[in-house]
Amino acid sequence: MVAHCKEYGFVFPSSEIYDGLGAVYDYGQNGVELKNNIKRYWWDSMTLLHENIVGIDAAIFMHPTTWKASGHVDAFNDPLIDNRDSKKRYRADVLIEDQLGKIEEKINKEVEKAAKRFGDSFDEAMFRQTNPRVLEHQKHFDELHARYKKAMNDSDLAELKQIILDEEIVCPISGTRNWTDVRQFNLMFQTEMGSTADGAMKIYLRPETAQGIFVNFLNVQKTGRMKIPFGIAQIGKAFRNEIVARQFVFRMREFEQMEMQFFVRPGEELKWFEHWKAFRLKWHKALGLGDEKYRYHDHEKLAHYANAATDIEFLMPFGFKEVEGIHSRTNFDLSQHAKYSGKKIEYFDPELNQSYTPYVIETSIGVDRMFLSVMCSAYKEEQLEGGDTRVVLNLPPVLAPVKACVMPLVKKDGLPEKAREIMNLLKFDFKTAYDEKDSIGKRYRRQDAIGTPFCITVDHDTLNDNCVTVRYRDTMKQDRVHINDLHALIANAVDMKQLYKKIVGDSMEDSME
Ligand code: ATP
Repeated sequence: MVAHCKEYGFVFPSSEIYDGLGAVYDYGQNGVELKNNIKRYWWDSMTLLHENIVGIDAAIFMHPTTWKASGHVDAFNDPLIDNRDSKKRYRADVLIEDQLGKIEEKINKEVEKAAKRFGDSFDEAMFRQTNPRVLEHQKHFDELHARYKKAMNDSDLAELKQIILDEEIVCPISGTRNWTDVRQFNLMFQTEMGSTADGAMKIYLRPETAQGIFVNFLNVQKTGRMKIPFGIAQIGKAFRNEIVARQFVFRMREFEQMEMQFFVRPGEELKWFEHWKAFRLKWHKALGLGDEKYRYHDHEKLAHYANAATDIEFLMPFGFKEVEGIHSRTNFDLSQHAKYSGKKIEYFDPELNQSYTPYVIETSIGVDRMFLSVMCSAYKEEQLEGGDTRVVLNLPPVLAPVKACVMPLVKKDGLPEKAREIMNLLKFDFKTAYDEKDSIGKRYRRQDAIGTPFCITVDHDTLNDNCVTVRYRDTMKQDRVHINDLHALIANAVDMKQLYKKIVGDSMEDSME
């Protein structure tokens, strides 16, 4: 995937000519189109489908007290540990979670083996409850899990180290158990604003976009005359100095978030939490990447301010991973900002005839993780008839970077001019490419590799009958289509309205009413 993204202009390592920068990536000419389409799908599904959701675009720099109030200065930490021999740094919690994963794997292997042995008569539930080896592993898992959970909840760093020692976890590089103590590491990037002579102020690159929404709650509510319940949506960059940044764009140090904070009456938050949980999953599934690739993962360990939280996980090539978080954040954020700013941040509810600090449901999704899930599920290496192979991206047409590529069969006889004419019919509505180089077969392959749904070939007959050959990416079937019908054909396939209908039904009514 990494190689394909680079070869076809989706994602490049940042500042590559200087050997790159850890966990920072640049999006190329196709990547940015795909990313923009994802953002548009999200943005419109929030602000078009809901008359009570509006957007903002807050600055990345914020007053430093913001991060004191939000808790990020004191508590946005990961526990890190170094191996003295390899000099490699790890997240202590990740080392322990990997260990838990290994135990789970052992159990699954036992089950698989037995399933093969017993065939149709295999009773998995019974086997799990009675097999001595499985029971032994399960006991180990449960004890370790309980110990780990307690250590994390208590922020007990010495205990985290002790677990690593007791479990005899080794560094994957050096293979040794020569570990340092576990230390807390704050994930926020710091910089200074203003010159030192002026008295520079220490500020942070925002680690999430949400706080820009909270500090603007009153501005938006008052100027937009918003009535509770209502939401504020935002798309923007966020920065985290991740200790272990791996897995390509899944975990980056500079990334992009799409967040929506939905403000509700106190006491109604859990109803809205369920609503947004369902709505967001429908948004994902409408793309058609495969319903079985999604699952909810409810949080066992809730942040101190949350009273419910779940992740939407997607089946990546490296397992089910969080793509989006949905959190019921109570009135924590607005209350904290009221406390630290000394301003009253409340809403007067005319129906209840009382003021209160609204509760908040947050939906927070990473653009880059969404990009990765779309790419991973679209990428296929196909074996064709005659021993040929092709790499194709079965991207949802609405997200494809290029919607159509127009190709004159040959570079002469007026075909390029005719092809340009066709491009002019399409290019104001759809991202359209033009390609006249190499054989038609090679040109198809190039478009397959970037996921272009339609290839339009102009041949000599076109000059007489105004018909072209349309070749479909997924089926590779070809149709003869009149030039006047091309626009409707493409529009029909790439219209986001179809997805919105899947989410909110034919009436396109706001499903929240
Ligand atoms: P994780 O547990 O994977 O570190 P998180 O729970 O800290 O993620 P949130 O703070 O809930 O993540 O952020 C919301 C969303 O932002 C995540 O679901 C994810 O899609 C995205 N995100 C968070 N951190 C990163 C990162 N380092 N790189 C890319 N996307 C990220």
